[in-house]
Amino acid sequence: MNNHNFATSDFPARILGWYDRHARVLPWRKPPGEAADAYHVWLSEIMLQQTTVATVGPYYGKFLQNWPTVQDLASAPLDDVLSAWAGLGYYARARNLHKCAIAVCERYDGDFPSTEAELLTLPGVGAYTAAAVAAIAFQQPAVVLDGNIERIVSRVFRFQGELPKGREALRELAGRLSPKDRPGDYAQALMDIGATVCTPKKPECGDCPVSIHCAANMEGDAASYPRKAPKKVKPTRKAVVLWVENQKGDILMRRREESGLLGGMMEFPSTHWDDQTVADSEVTDLLAQLGMMPDIARVSGHSVVKHTFTHFHLELSPLVIRLAGAKRATSNEIQWVSTSDFGDIALPTLMKKVADAVQASQQPLPL
Ligand code: SF4
Repeated sequence: MNNHNFATSDFPARILGWYDRHARVLPWRKPPGEAADAYHVWLSEIMLQQTTVATVGPYYGKFLQNWPTVQDLASAPLDDVLSAWAGLGYYARARNLHKCAIAVCERYDGDFPSTEAELLTLPGVGAYTAAAVAAIAFQQPAVVLDGNIERIVSRVFRFQGELPKGREALRELAGRLSPKDRPGDYAQALMDIGATVCTPKKPECGDCPVSIHCAANMEGDAASYPRKAPKKVKPTRKAVVLWVENQKGDILMRRREESGLLGGMMEFPSTHWDDQTVADSEVTDLLAQLGMMPDIARVSGHSVVKHTFTHFHLELSPLVIRLAGAKRATSNEIQWVSTSDFGDIALPTLMKKVADAVQASQQPLPL
C-alpha cells in the first residue's frame, strides 16, 4: 500500500493540469473550468452505465433533440422514451430515467437538486451518478468512483482488496486524493486518464501525470490492479419463443409484466426461461393459454437465437406458427403487430434478434 502523504502532494494539481491540456471533447461536456448543465450530465451518466462513449453519443443527441429539457422528457409518453432507448439495454434504466425526470419536475420545479444526498433520493440515481452530477454540474466535492477511477486509485495505492467487496475501502482512499477545488474537472480528468492512459491491460505510465505518485508503477505490476473476485460462470437458460403469424401476416406480441427483466416491454411469447430443456407440453400449454390451439395451420422450427443478460445466457428456439383463422382478439396485453410497425414500438434487442432470425430465414434465397 502507498503511504505517500497525498494531503500535501501535488497529485490533484497534476491531474487538473493534464485535464487542461488533454480533456476529451464530448457532447455533454463543457470545456475545463466551466460547470456543465445538470440535465446533460445526468442524462449522459445514466446512458454511460455499462456502455461505451461511442455507443452513447448518437443516443444522447437523439434524446436532447426530442426532449431538450428535463420538463420535455417528463411530459413525454413512456413508450416514446423506451423506443428512443431501444438498443442501449437495461430498460429498467429508461423507465427510471422517465420517473426521475417527473420527480425533478414535481419535487424540484424542474431544477436538479445540487447535493449528493438529495440526488440519491431520485429514481435510478445511485451513489455513482449522484456523486458525478454533484461534482460535475454543481462543483460539490463528491468522491466519484466509476470503473476507470477505481482502476487508477487501486493502482496508485496498490490496493490489495478485491472488488467489488473492497469498494468502500477504495472509496475512502479515493477521497484522500480528491481536491476541494474544481471537483468536477478532477472527476472528468480521472475518467479520461482511465480511458486513454491508465487502461486495463497496457497502462501508458510514461504519459501519466501522476506516475511519480503511483505505487504500482514503481513496482511495475500495474496490470494486476484492481484485484477482482473470480467471476461466477453464468448459467444458460433455454426457452421456446413463438412467432405466431395470422393470415394478414401480423405477428402476435404480448407485453411483459411491469416488474422484472425487460419489464413492460413487448415480446414474442415464450415458455419459461429455464435451465432445463423445454418440454413439448410447455409449448402446448403456452399455445392454449394464448387461445391459439384450434387454428394452427403450419409449424416450423428455426435455429437458436442467443443473447446474454447480466446474470445468464439465454437460448431461444423460435417456433413459427401460421394460423388458419384471420380474426383474433386484441387486448392490452396481447396485440397483433405488423412487421412494418416493429420500428415504432419499444422492441428489446433480444426480440429484435428473434425477428431478424425468423425474417432472414423466410426470405427467398438469391438465384
Ligand atoms: Fe495508471 Fe501507470 Fe498512471 Fe499508475 S502511473 S496511474 S498505473 S497510468
